Amino acid sequence: MYSGNTLCLTRLEKDFAELNFNNCNGSANKFDQETLGELEAALGILSSAANIRGLLLTSSKRVFIAGGDITQFKAMFPADKAQFFEAVQRYNRLMSTIEDFPFPSVAVISGLALGGGLEISLACDYRIMADNAAIGLPEINLGILPGWGGTVRLPRLCGFATAVQWITSGKQQKATVALEEGVVDAVFPADQLRKEALSLLDKMTNGTVDFSHRRQCKLSPMSEPEHEIAAIAKVQSDAIIAKTGDYYPAPLTVIELMGETAKLPRDEAIAMETRAFYKLSQSYQARALVGLFLGDQYVTNCAKGYSLELGQNLADIAQAGVVGAGIMGGGIAYQNAISGYSVVMKDIAQEALDMGLEQADRLLQKSVSRGKLASEQADSIKAMITPTLEDVELADCEILVEAVVEQTAVKQTVLCSLEAQIMPQAIIASNTSTISINRLASSLQRPEQFCGMHFFNPVNAMKLVEVIRGEHTSDKTIARVCSYALQLGKKPIVVNDCPGFLVNRVLFALCFGLEMLLKEGVSYEQIDSVMEDWGMPMGPAYLMDVIGLDTINHCYAVMMEGIPERFVRTAEDLPTEALFKVGRLGQKNALGYYKYEKSQRGRALKMPDPEVIQLLESIGGPAKDIEPQDIIDRLLLPLAMEMAHCLEEGIVASATEADMALIWGIGFPAFRGGICRWMDEQGLDSICQRGEAYLALGELYRPPPQLKKMAASGKRFYS
Ligand code: NAD
Repeated sequence: MYSGNTLCLTRLEKDFAELNFNNCNGSANKFDQETLGELEAALGILSSAANIRGLLLTSSKRVFIAGGDITQFKAMFPADKAQFFEAVQRYNRLMSTIEDFPFPSVAVISGLALGGGLEISLACDYRIMADNAAIGLPEINLGILPGWGGTVRLPRLCGFATAVQWITSGKQQKATVALEEGVVDAVFPADQLRKEALSLLDKMTNGTVDFSHRRQCKLSPMSEPEHEIAAIAKVQSDAIIAKTGDYYPAPLTVIELMGETAKLPRDEAIAMETRAFYKLSQSYQARALVGLFLGDQYVTNCAKGYSLELGQNLADIAQAGVVGAGIMGGGIAYQNAISGYSVVMKDIAQEALDMGLEQADRLLQKSVSRGKLASEQADSIKAMITPTLEDVELADCEILVEAVVEQTAVKQTVLCSLEAQIMPQAIIASNTSTISINRLASSLQRPEQFCGMHFFNPVNAMKLVEVIRGEHTSDKTIARVCSYALQLGKKPIVVNDCPGFLVNRVLFALCFGLEMLLKEGVSYEQIDSVMEDWGMPMGPAYLMDVIGLDTINHCYAVMMEGIPERFVRTAEDLPTEALFKVGRLGQKNALGYYKYEKSQRGRALKMPDPEVIQLLESIGGPAKDIEPQDIIDRLLLPLAMEMAHCLEEGIVASATEADMALIWGIGFPAFRGGICRWMDEQGLDSICQRGEAYLALGELYRPPPQLKKMAASGKRFYS
């Protein structure tokens, strides 16, 4: 009846019709402009076709329908209100057309159905689902809501409480749960779905199964009592506020909307949903979260692009090695093993090897106790790690990550000795956090096969890996290390060599801002609480305790030596140095800016320490609170300016990678979208003016030339 690039409509036996989604453009089934046009055409034909008795909605792809094409949001969100409404109403008209056909319809959910993929299924009279499929409405993760009838149809099928819970969590739901909650009507093994769907259509057309009553339920106001809906809404909103405050408006908007539309007929409810969708689409959180989604894809594509550019299909690495089995080496070995790599873990101390293995074991047992791994699986993963004290065991490694102590001389000796013993084509990557990659490469015979591979602590939890390109690092080495990082489940971002590389360099600019505030006597507890309220996972003083004040002092020295024009010593002892000098190392000895006690569950509980307050008062006078906005600016402007320097110097290639690196590397709040997006939201001219107002504090606040130019010409990092 109709055949397009993304879907086709066929008349089946018994005058049933099948609308089959099968994107022939090489990507998953999704609702993009082309699919939308073809769906309009197909449904138009179906509406005027004679004698159709039932509709089957199917997909020929492994993923049933992945949802809306998120790249289209980039154009749709800034569009004017009328265009936005028209775009959303086009989709809604189609969903309602399916729901209003004079014949029954069955969605055959054979694979993952997300967002619009589930919404079109909700418009059908019945849904049957493969036992291995999953469904969900993940729009909340983008700061928006399911805007094609999802907030209206889902509660009418499974009740208000479940629908709110599904939509505000954005989680995927398994077939068993979907069936239990009444969102789907039956679950079958995938190979039986079609037969069962046709039989169901038969029953609906011959009157054995009544579809008109349940259709009416979807069209009418909900029957749940108003006061029950209000009570559920209140409980769910309170829970969200307790968890994420009001950083994310979408879940709260959804609950309010669903409360208001519960008692409206379908079309009025959908009109209200569209208005709420529009409002959310205009929020900076939606811009940030959609940007994050696309940024994630961009980073992965960049990482894959390095090997594509070489025109080579890089073979997977069969054997990896880690040298140094400490905190990082142990974590990297574990990450290799769970990603399916056989890995040799070398150290000079048996004790360290034992601890490295224990670390892996602890993480594996956690997965076993959570039911994510079978005990035998955990054993075989652990067996992928071969601990050794001998270099000779590293001979077959195709890639080696060096993670020995952070001392240039030690690293240089280790690297040279490794290079002499491994295969000539093997790659060595250093996990150094502060030592110049060019400097480490200078003593190597094959510097082109060497780069930095900066994992973050704890390795298993932190997504980011900075891949640091030295001046001699070859493109092939970068391609191989990026593809290895992807295989380890990490997000590689390639940066050029410089003091602190990218993430630590900009983070330490913020830390220098903190030192200046402390020197003026501003309370570190206020600073931490303001920054946590702003959305940081932890305040900067607390973060220093987590990193370790010894490490911080070492890094400060590197930054002051490497970028002396901005990282300037503003006191004989910076406050953090003063704390370090009296033996405070942070969480590692339970004494840092805070003191720490172990909770009953073994977690470090932080408490203010009068000794620290006294010590800081001896530097900056009695502790005082200042305007929160001053704290935010005095910490974030140096970070922002340093990031602008990094972009200007080509340390990082794009604002997207810069933002993703901060989100993955230091937990920069996702809803703010990263520092470049924050600068855009504030306005680059405002950022420059505010920086210049603080110039008396030092060069860290001076906007770099390119940023000033961008501000003067009204440019942004994101168009
Ligand atoms: P660590 O002190 O826990 O471990 C270092 C290990 O190296 C020790 O087990 C030591 O026995 C071993 N070692 C020393 N000399 C060796 C040699 N010649 N051959 C083999 N092993 C040797 O240190 P860590 O925290 O795991 O840091 C390791 C590297 O990772 C450093 O370069 C550090 O800067 C970097 N790094 C650390 C973190 C962090 O938070 N700890 C984060 C990112 C990067």
